[in-house]
Amino acid sequence: MTEANTQPEVNIGLVGHVDHGKTTLVQALSGSWTDQHSEEMKRGISIRLGYADATFRRCPGVDEPECYTVDEECEDGSESEPIRTVSFVDAPGHETLMATMLSGASIMDGAVLVVSATEDVPQAQTEEHLMALDLIGIENIVIAQNKVDLVGRDRAVDNYEQIREFVEGTVAEDAPIVPVSAQQEVNLDLLIDAIESEIPTPERDPAEHARMYAARSFDINRPGASAGDLKGGVVGGSLVSGELSVGDGLEIRPGREVDEEGQTEWRPLETTVRSLQAGNRDVETAGPGGLLGVGTGLDPSLTKGDALAGQVAGEPGTLPPTREEFEMTVDLLDRVVGKEDDESGESDIEEISTGEPLMLTVGTATTVGAVTSARDGECEVSLKRPVCAEEGAQIAINRRVGARWRLIGVGTLA
Ligand code: GDP
Ligand code: MG
Repeated sequence: MTEANTQPEVNIGLVGHVDHGKTTLVQALSGSWTDQHSEEMKRGISIRLGYADATFRRCPGVDEPECYTVDEECEDGSESEPIRTVSFVDAPGHETLMATMLSGASIMDGAVLVVSATEDVPQAQTEEHLMALDLIGIENIVIAQNKVDLVGRDRAVDNYEQIREFVEGTVAEDAPIVPVSAQQEVNLDLLIDAIESEIPTPERDPAEHARMYAARSFDINRPGASAGDLKGGVVGGSLVSGELSVGDGLEIRPGREVDEEGQTEWRPLETTVRSLQAGNRDVETAGPGGLLGVGTGLDPSLTKGDALAGQVAGEPGTLPPTREEFEMTVDLLDRVVGKEDDESGESDIEEISTGEPLMLTVGTATTVGAVTSARDGECEVSLKRPVCAEEGAQIAINRRVGARWRLIGVGTLA
Protein backbone atom coordinates (compact mmCIF):
# COMPACT_ATOMS: atom_id res chain seq x y z
CA MET A 1 0.00 0.00 0.00
CA THR A 2 1.35 3.42 -0.83
CA GLU A 3 2.07 5.79 2.02
CA ALA A 4 -0.31 8.48 0.78
CA ASN A 5 -3.19 6.09 1.16
CA THR A 6 -2.66 5.02 4.74
CA GLN A 7 -3.08 8.37 6.45
CA PRO A 8 -6.77 9.05 7.01
CA GLU A 9 -7.88 12.14 5.14
CA VAL A 10 -11.43 12.59 6.31
CA ASN A 11 -13.37 12.16 9.59
CA ILE A 12 -16.73 10.46 9.45
CA GLY A 13 -18.99 10.44 12.48
CA LEU A 14 -21.14 7.46 13.37
CA VAL A 15 -24.32 8.73 14.98
CA GLY A 16 -27.67 7.31 15.94
CA HIS A 17 -29.63 5.71 18.74
CA VAL A 18 -27.98 3.44 21.29
CA ASP A 19 -27.77 -0.22 20.25
CA HIS A 20 -28.60 0.49 16.63
CA GLY A 21 -25.17 -0.87 15.65
CA LYS A 22 -22.72 2.02 15.30
CA THR A 23 -19.81 0.31 17.00
CA THR A 24 -20.50 -2.97 15.19
CA LEU A 25 -20.51 -1.14 11.87
CA VAL A 26 -17.22 0.61 12.61
CA GLN A 27 -15.77 -2.75 13.53
CA ALA A 28 -17.00 -4.35 10.31
CA LEU A 29 -15.43 -1.58 8.23
CA SER A 30 -12.17 -1.18 10.10
CA GLY A 31 -11.54 -4.45 11.83
CA SER A 32 -11.03 -2.72 15.16
CA TRP A 33 -13.33 -2.37 18.10
CA THR A 34 -13.76 1.22 19.22
CA ASP A 35 -15.05 0.40 22.70
CA GLN A 36 -11.53 -0.05 24.00
CA HIS A 37 -11.82 1.08 27.54
CA SER A 38 -12.52 -1.48 30.17
CA GLU A 39 -15.22 0.61 31.77
CA GLU A 40 -16.84 1.07 28.38
CA MET A 41 -16.62 -2.65 27.79
CA LYS A 42 -18.35 -3.27 31.06
CA ARG A 43 -21.12 -0.85 30.41
CA GLY A 44 -21.32 -1.75 26.74
CA ILE A 45 -21.52 1.82 25.55
CA SER A 46 -19.00 4.13 23.96
CA ILE A 47 -18.43 6.57 26.78
CA ARG A 48 -15.78 8.56 25.02
CA LEU A 49 -15.38 9.14 21.37
CA GLY A 50 -13.68 6.18 19.78
CA TYR A 51 -11.70 6.48 16.59
CA ALA A 52 -10.99 3.74 14.09
CA ASP A 53 -9.40 4.02 10.67
CA ALA A 54 -10.59 2.08 7.65
CA THR A 55 -9.04 1.84 4.22
CA PHE A 56 -11.61 1.52 1.46
CA ARG A 57 -10.36 -0.63 -1.42
CA ARG A 58 -11.39 -1.64 -4.89
CA CYS A 59 -11.10 -5.00 -6.63
CA PRO A 60 -9.70 -4.43 -10.12
CA GLY A 61 -11.87 -5.50 -13.04
CA VAL A 62 -15.04 -5.69 -10.91
CA ASP A 63 -18.03 -3.36 -11.53
CA GLU A 64 -19.29 -0.81 -9.00
CA PRO A 65 -20.51 -1.20 -6.33
CA GLU A 66 -19.41 -4.86 -5.96
CA CYS A 67 -15.76 -3.78 -6.38
CA TYR A 68 -15.71 -2.00 -3.00
CA THR A 69 -14.25 -3.79 -0.02
CA VAL A 70 -12.13 -3.37 3.08
CA ASP A 71 -10.39 -6.72 2.55
CA GLU A 72 -6.95 -6.86 0.97
CA GLU A 73 -7.84 -9.97 -0.94
CA CYS A 74 -10.61 -10.06 -3.54
CA GLU A 75 -12.94 -13.00 -4.05
CA ASP A 76 -10.94 -14.18 -7.08
CA GLY A 77 -7.76 -14.16 -5.02
CA SER A 78 -6.31 -11.01 -6.58
CA GLU A 79 -5.15 -8.10 -4.47
CA SER A 80 -7.45 -5.10 -3.95
CA GLU A 81 -6.23 -1.53 -4.48
CA PRO A 82 -6.52 1.10 -1.74
CA ILE A 83 -8.70 4.11 -2.62
CA ARG A 84 -8.96 6.18 0.52
CA THR A 85 -8.39 5.87 4.25
CA VAL A 86 -11.07 7.39 6.44
CA SER A 87 -11.30 7.81 10.17
CA PHE A 88 -14.54 6.91 11.90
CA VAL A 89 -15.50 8.81 15.01
CA ASP A 90 -17.84 6.54 16.91
CA ALA A 91 -20.13 8.80 18.88
CA PRO A 92 -22.01 7.51 21.89
CA GLY A 93 -25.73 6.96 21.47
CA HIS A 94 -26.45 6.95 25.15
CA GLU A 95 -28.91 9.69 25.96
CA THR A 96 -26.95 11.56 28.61
CA LEU A 97 -23.89 11.85 26.40
CA MET A 98 -25.15 14.35 23.87
CA ALA A 99 -22.33 16.75 24.71
CA THR A 100 -19.72 14.20 23.75
CA MET A 101 -21.51 13.59 20.51
CA LEU A 102 -21.54 17.29 19.78
CA SER A 103 -17.88 17.70 20.56
CA GLY A 104 -17.21 14.95 18.05
CA ALA A 105 -19.39 16.76 15.55
CA SER A 106 -17.00 19.70 15.45
CA ILE A 107 -14.37 17.49 13.86
CA MET A 108 -16.65 15.51 11.54
CA ASP A 109 -16.52 16.11 7.79
CA GLY A 110 -19.58 13.95 7.29
CA ALA A 111 -21.66 11.39 9.12
CA VAL A 112 -23.22 7.98 8.84
CA LEU A 113 -26.57 7.92 10.62
CA VAL A 114 -27.24 4.38 11.77
CA VAL A 115 -30.91 3.45 12.09
CA SER A 116 -32.01 -0.01 13.17
CA ALA A 117 -34.68 -1.62 10.99
CA THR A 118 -36.04 -3.43 14.02
CA GLU A 119 -37.51 -0.34 15.71
CA ASP A 120 -39.93 2.40 14.78
CA VAL A 121 -38.45 5.62 13.43
CA PRO A 122 -37.36 7.89 14.99
CA GLN A 123 -36.02 6.67 18.30
CA ALA A 124 -35.06 9.47 20.71
CA GLN A 125 -31.37 9.84 19.83
CA THR A 126 -31.93 9.23 16.15
CA GLU A 127 -33.90 12.45 16.18
CA GLU A 128 -31.60 14.28 18.56
CA HIS A 129 -28.45 13.40 16.63
CA LEU A 130 -29.95 14.29 13.27
CA MET A 131 -31.02 17.63 14.71
CA ALA A 132 -27.47 18.19 15.96
CA LEU A 133 -26.02 17.44 12.50
CA ASP A 134 -28.54 19.85 11.06
CA LEU A 135 -27.66 22.59 13.55
CA ILE A 136 -23.93 22.18 13.23
CA GLY A 137 -24.20 22.11 9.46
CA ILE A 138 -22.89 18.65 8.66
CA GLU A 139 -24.45 18.10 5.27
CA ASN A 140 -22.66 15.07 3.89
CA ILE A 141 -24.69 12.24 5.31
CA VAL A 142 -25.25 8.59 4.50
CA ILE A 143 -27.99 6.65 6.30
CA ALA A 144 -27.26 3.02 7.15
CA GLN A 145 -30.49 1.08 7.69
CA ASN A 146 -28.96 -1.59 9.90
CA LYS A 147 -29.96 -5.04 11.18
CA VAL A 148 -31.86 -5.91 8.01
CA ASP A 149 -30.90 -9.53 8.72
CA LEU A 150 -33.41 -9.46 11.60
CA VAL A 151 -36.46 -8.29 9.66
CA GLY A 152 -38.48 -9.61 6.76
CA ARG A 153 -38.78 -7.84 3.45
CA ASP A 154 -42.08 -6.07 4.23
CA ARG A 155 -40.85 -4.77 7.55
CA ALA A 156 -37.62 -3.56 5.89
CA VAL A 157 -39.60 -1.67 3.24
CA ASP A 158 -41.94 -0.11 5.83
CA ASN A 159 -38.97 0.94 7.93
CA TYR A 160 -37.27 2.40 4.86
CA GLU A 161 -40.38 4.50 4.17
CA GLN A 162 -40.41 5.64 7.81
CA ILE A 163 -36.81 6.79 7.51
CA ARG A 164 -37.55 8.67 4.26
CA GLU A 165 -40.47 10.44 5.88
CA PHE A 166 -38.49 11.24 9.02
CA VAL A 167 -35.60 12.93 7.17
CA GLU A 168 -37.87 14.99 4.93
CA GLY A 169 -37.10 18.68 5.35
CA THR A 170 -33.85 18.00 7.23
CA VAL A 171 -30.20 18.17 6.21
CA ALA A 172 -30.41 14.41 5.47
CA GLU A 173 -33.35 14.74 3.07
CA ASP A 174 -31.34 13.64 0.04
CA ALA A 175 -29.04 11.25 1.87
CA PRO A 176 -28.92 7.75 0.43
CA ILE A 177 -30.41 5.06 2.66
CA VAL A 178 -28.38 1.86 2.43
CA PRO A 179 -29.83 -1.34 3.93
CA VAL A 180 -27.00 -3.21 5.69
CA SER A 181 -26.25 -5.79 8.30
CA ALA A 182 -23.20 -4.68 10.23
CA GLN A 183 -23.07 -7.96 12.09
CA GLN A 184 -23.45 -10.21 9.04
CA GLU A 185 -21.34 -7.84 6.89
CA VAL A 186 -24.05 -7.54 4.25
CA ASN A 187 -24.03 -4.68 1.70
CA LEU A 188 -20.85 -3.09 3.01
CA ASP A 189 -19.83 -2.57 -0.64
CA LEU A 190 -22.98 -0.48 -1.20
CA LEU A 191 -22.27 1.50 1.95
CA ILE A 192 -18.67 2.22 0.92
CA ASP A 193 -19.93 3.28 -2.51
CA ALA A 194 -22.38 5.72 -0.87
CA ILE A 195 -19.71 7.11 1.47
CA GLU A 196 -17.28 7.56 -1.42
CA SER A 197 -19.80 9.64 -3.36
CA GLU A 198 -21.48 11.53 -0.50
CA ILE A 199 -18.61 12.28 1.87
CA PRO A 200 -15.69 13.62 -0.19
CA THR A 201 -12.42 14.69 1.36
CA PRO A 202 -12.69 18.46 1.95
CA GLU A 203 -10.20 20.68 0.17
CA ARG A 204 -7.44 21.73 2.53
CA ASP A 205 -4.84 24.45 2.33
CA PRO A 206 -1.56 23.23 3.89
CA ALA A 207 -0.37 26.85 4.09
CA GLU A 208 -2.99 27.74 6.72
CA HIS A 209 -1.98 27.86 10.37
CA ALA A 210 -2.13 24.50 12.07
CA ARG A 211 -5.19 24.26 14.30
CA MET A 212 -5.90 21.13 16.26
CA TYR A 213 -8.92 20.35 18.44
CA ALA A 214 -7.91 18.08 21.26
CA ALA A 215 -10.42 15.33 21.95
CA ARG A 216 -8.28 13.25 24.30
CA SER A 217 -5.01 13.48 26.20
CA PHE A 218 -2.95 10.80 27.88
CA ASP A 219 -0.04 9.86 30.04
CA ILE A 220 1.40 6.87 28.16
CA ASN A 221 3.94 5.91 30.82
CA ARG A 222 3.52 2.74 32.81
CA PRO A 223 3.15 3.27 36.53
CA GLY A 224 6.57 3.30 38.15
CA ALA A 225 8.51 4.15 34.97
CA SER A 226 11.87 5.63 35.91
CA ALA A 227 12.42 9.33 35.34
CA GLY A 228 14.86 8.64 32.51
CA ASP A 229 12.29 6.57 30.60
CA LEU A 230 9.46 8.99 31.12
CA LYS A 231 7.74 10.03 27.90
CA GLY A 232 6.15 13.45 27.47
CA GLY A 233 2.39 13.93 27.49
CA VAL A 234 0.36 12.91 24.45
CA VAL A 235 -2.51 14.91 22.99
CA GLY A 236 -5.02 13.24 20.67
CA GLY A 237 -7.28 15.12 18.35
CA SER A 238 -7.85 16.29 14.83
CA LEU A 239 -6.29 19.02 12.78
CA VAL A 240 -8.97 21.18 11.24
CA SER A 241 -6.48 23.20 9.21
CA GLY A 242 -2.79 23.38 8.27
CA GLU A 243 -0.09 20.81 8.96
CA LEU A 244 1.99 19.75 11.93
CA SER A 245 5.54 18.40 11.73
CA VAL A 246 7.89 16.86 14.23
CA GLY A 247 9.98 19.68 15.69
CA ASP A 248 7.27 22.36 15.35
CA GLY A 249 6.51 24.60 18.29
CA LEU A 250 3.12 24.02 19.85
CA GLU A 251 0.91 26.24 21.95
CA ILE A 252 -2.10 24.80 23.76
CA ARG A 253 -4.95 26.98 25.04
CA PRO A 254 -6.54 27.64 27.48
CA GLY A 255 -3.64 25.61 28.94
CA ARG A 256 -3.56 25.10 32.65
CA GLU A 257 -5.01 26.79 35.65
CA VAL A 258 -2.43 28.29 37.95
CA ASP A 259 -3.10 29.46 41.44
CA GLU A 260 -1.02 32.37 42.65
CA GLU A 261 -1.65 34.14 45.92
CA GLY A 262 -5.31 33.16 45.89
CA GLN A 263 -5.77 34.31 42.28
CA THR A 264 -6.37 31.71 39.63
CA GLU A 265 -5.69 32.24 35.98
CA TRP A 266 -5.33 30.15 32.86
CA ARG A 267 -1.94 30.13 31.18
CA PRO A 268 -1.28 28.69 27.72
CA LEU A 269 1.12 25.75 27.55
CA GLU A 270 4.08 25.87 25.19
CA THR A 271 6.02 22.88 24.02
CA THR A 272 7.32 21.20 20.87
CA VAL A 273 6.02 18.34 18.75
CA ARG A 274 8.27 15.38 19.55
CA SER A 275 6.44 12.69 17.64
CA LEU A 276 3.36 12.31 15.49
CA GLN A 277 1.14 9.30 15.03
CA ALA A 278 -1.42 9.18 12.26
CA GLY A 279 -3.20 6.13 10.97
CA ASN A 280 -1.43 4.10 13.69
CA ARG A 281 2.00 4.90 12.26
CA ASP A 282 4.73 7.33 13.16
CA VAL A 283 4.90 10.15 10.64
CA GLU A 284 7.02 13.28 10.21
CA THR A 285 4.19 15.52 9.00
CA ALA A 286 0.43 15.23 9.26
CA GLY A 287 -2.50 17.16 7.84
CA PRO A 288 -6.22 17.24 8.65
CA GLY A 289 -8.18 13.99 8.77
CA GLY A 290 -8.15 11.19 11.24
CA LEU A 291 -7.03 11.09 14.79
CA LEU A 292 -3.60 12.45 15.40
CA GLY A 293 -1.51 11.53 18.40
CA VAL A 294 0.93 14.29 19.20
CA GLY A 295 3.82 13.40 21.50
CA THR A 296 4.91 16.56 23.31
CA GLY A 297 7.53 17.66 25.77
CA LEU A 298 4.85 18.37 28.37
CA ASP A 299 4.96 16.90 31.83
CA PRO A 300 2.67 13.84 31.47
CA SER A 301 0.78 14.85 34.60
CA LEU A 302 -0.62 17.75 32.53
CA THR A 303 -2.09 15.44 29.89
CA LYS A 304 -3.22 12.59 32.12
CA GLY A 305 -6.84 11.43 32.00
CA ASP A 306 -8.01 13.67 29.14
CA ALA A 307 -7.02 16.78 31.12
CA LEU A 308 -6.46 18.69 27.86
CA ALA A 309 -9.55 17.41 26.04
CA GLY A 310 -11.47 20.32 24.60
CA GLN A 311 -8.40 22.54 24.26
CA VAL A 312 -6.98 23.97 21.05
CA ALA A 313 -3.39 23.52 19.85
CA GLY A 314 -1.40 25.19 17.09
CA GLU A 315 1.57 27.30 16.11
CA PRO A 316 2.54 29.58 19.01
CA GLY A 317 1.03 33.05 18.69
CA THR A 318 -1.65 32.07 16.17
CA LEU A 319 -4.41 30.71 18.40
CA PRO A 320 -7.68 32.49 19.16
CA PRO A 321 -8.04 34.14 22.57
CA THR A 322 -8.96 32.34 25.76
CA ARG A 323 -12.39 33.50 26.86
CA GLU A 324 -13.85 33.34 30.34
CA GLU A 325 -16.99 35.02 29.08
CA PHE A 326 -18.45 35.80 25.70
CA GLU A 327 -21.41 37.12 23.81
CA MET A 328 -23.25 35.06 21.24
CA THR A 329 -26.14 35.35 18.87
CA VAL A 330 -28.66 32.59 19.45
CA ASP A 331 -30.86 30.45 17.21
CA LEU A 332 -33.25 28.34 19.23
CA LEU A 333 -34.95 25.16 18.08
CA ASP A 334 -38.74 25.19 17.94
CA ARG A 335 -39.12 22.37 20.43
CA VAL A 336 -37.09 19.97 22.53
CA VAL A 337 -36.09 16.98 20.42
CA GLY A 338 -35.31 13.45 21.47
CA LYS A 339 -37.56 13.45 24.51
CA GLU A 340 -39.07 10.13 25.55
CA ASP A 341 -42.85 10.13 25.91
CA ASP A 342 -42.75 9.46 29.64
CA GLU A 343 -40.38 12.31 30.44
CA SER A 344 -41.58 15.36 32.26
CA GLY A 345 -40.78 18.95 31.35
CA GLU A 346 -41.93 21.36 28.69
CA SER A 347 -41.55 20.48 25.04
CA ASP A 348 -41.61 24.07 23.85
CA ILE A 349 -38.37 25.98 24.14
CA GLU A 350 -38.57 29.19 26.15
CA GLU A 351 -36.27 32.14 25.50
CA ILE A 352 -32.95 32.08 27.35
CA SER A 353 -33.15 34.06 30.57
CA THR A 354 -30.62 35.90 32.70
CA GLY A 355 -29.17 33.78 35.48
CA GLU A 356 -29.88 30.39 33.98
CA PRO A 357 -27.09 27.84 33.55
CA LEU A 358 -26.34 26.54 30.05
CA MET A 359 -24.07 23.78 28.92
CA LEU A 360 -22.10 24.94 25.91
CA THR A 361 -20.09 22.93 23.44
CA VAL A 362 -17.47 24.98 21.62
CA GLY A 363 -15.18 23.01 19.32
CA THR A 364 -14.37 19.91 21.34
CA ALA A 365 -14.80 21.78 24.64
CA THR A 366 -17.84 21.45 26.85
CA THR A 367 -18.31 24.01 29.58
CA VAL A 368 -21.08 25.27 31.80
CA GLY A 369 -21.88 28.96 31.67
CA ALA A 370 -24.21 31.25 33.56
CA VAL A 371 -26.21 33.71 31.49
CA THR A 372 -25.30 37.22 32.63
CA SER A 373 -27.56 39.03 30.22
CA ALA A 374 -30.12 37.95 27.63
CA ARG A 375 -31.87 39.90 24.92
CA ASP A 376 -33.79 38.89 21.86
CA GLY A 377 -31.60 36.45 19.95
CA GLU A 378 -28.45 37.32 21.90
CA CYS A 379 -26.92 36.53 25.24
CA GLU A 380 -23.79 36.87 27.33
CA VAL A 381 -22.40 34.01 29.36
CA SER A 382 -19.79 33.72 32.05
CA LEU A 383 -17.99 30.36 31.92
CA LYS A 384 -16.94 28.05 34.73
CA ARG A 385 -14.05 26.86 32.60
CA PRO A 386 -12.72 29.09 29.82
CA VAL A 387 -12.55 28.11 26.17
CA CYS A 388 -10.24 29.01 23.31
CA ALA A 389 -12.48 30.12 20.47
CA GLU A 390 -12.60 32.68 17.72
CA GLU A 391 -15.28 35.03 16.55
CA GLY A 392 -17.82 33.19 14.44
CA ALA A 393 -17.29 29.89 16.25
CA GLN A 394 -20.39 27.70 16.48
CA ILE A 395 -21.69 26.78 19.88
CA ALA A 396 -24.17 24.05 20.73
CA ILE A 397 -26.46 25.29 23.51
CA ASN A 398 -27.94 22.86 26.02
CA ARG A 399 -30.39 23.57 28.82
CA ARG A 400 -31.47 21.43 31.72
CA VAL A 401 -34.91 20.10 30.84
CA GLY A 402 -36.35 17.63 33.31
CA ALA A 403 -33.52 15.45 34.53
CA ARG A 404 -30.92 16.19 31.90
CA TRP A 405 -29.25 18.57 29.47
CA ARG A 406 -31.06 19.02 26.20
CA LEU A 407 -29.93 20.62 23.00
CA ILE A 408 -32.01 23.79 22.60
CA GLY A 409 -30.19 25.67 19.90
CA VAL A 410 -27.00 26.93 18.37
CA GLY A 411 -25.03 30.09 19.02
CA THR A 412 -22.45 32.05 17.07
CA LEU A 413 -19.67 33.73 19.00
CA ALA A 414 -19.97 37.48 18.49
P1 GDP B 1 -24.24 1.04 19.27
O1 GDP B 1 -24.78 1.31 20.64
O2 GDP B 1 -25.02 1.80 18.23
O3 GDP B 1 -22.77 1.22 19.13
O4 GDP B 1 -24.60 -0.52 18.96
P2 GDP B 1 -23.64 -1.79 18.96
O5 GDP B 1 -22.76 -1.79 17.76
O6 GDP B 1 -22.99 -1.91 20.28
O7 GDP B 1 -24.71 -2.95 18.72
C1 GDP B 1 -25.75 -3.23 19.64
C2 GDP B 1 -26.15 -4.69 19.52
O8 GDP B 1 -26.74 -4.95 18.25
C3 GDP B 1 -24.98 -5.66 19.64
O9 GDP B 1 -25.40 -6.77 20.38
C4 GDP B 1 -24.69 -6.05 18.21
O10 GDP B 1 -24.13 -7.33 18.10
C5 GDP B 1 -26.07 -6.01 17.58
N1 GDP B 1 -26.02 -5.69 16.14
C6 GDP B 1 -25.39 -4.65 15.56
N2 GDP B 1 -25.56 -4.67 14.22
C7 GDP B 1 -26.33 -5.75 13.95
C8 GDP B 1 -26.85 -6.32 12.75
O11 GDP B 1 -26.64 -5.82 11.64
N3 GDP B 1 -27.59 -7.45 12.88
C9 GDP B 1 -27.84 -8.04 14.08
N4 GDP B 1 -28.56 -9.14 14.10
N5 GDP B 1 -27.37 -7.53 15.23
C10 GDP B 1 -26.62 -6.40 15.18
MG1 MG C 1 -21.35 1.96 20.46
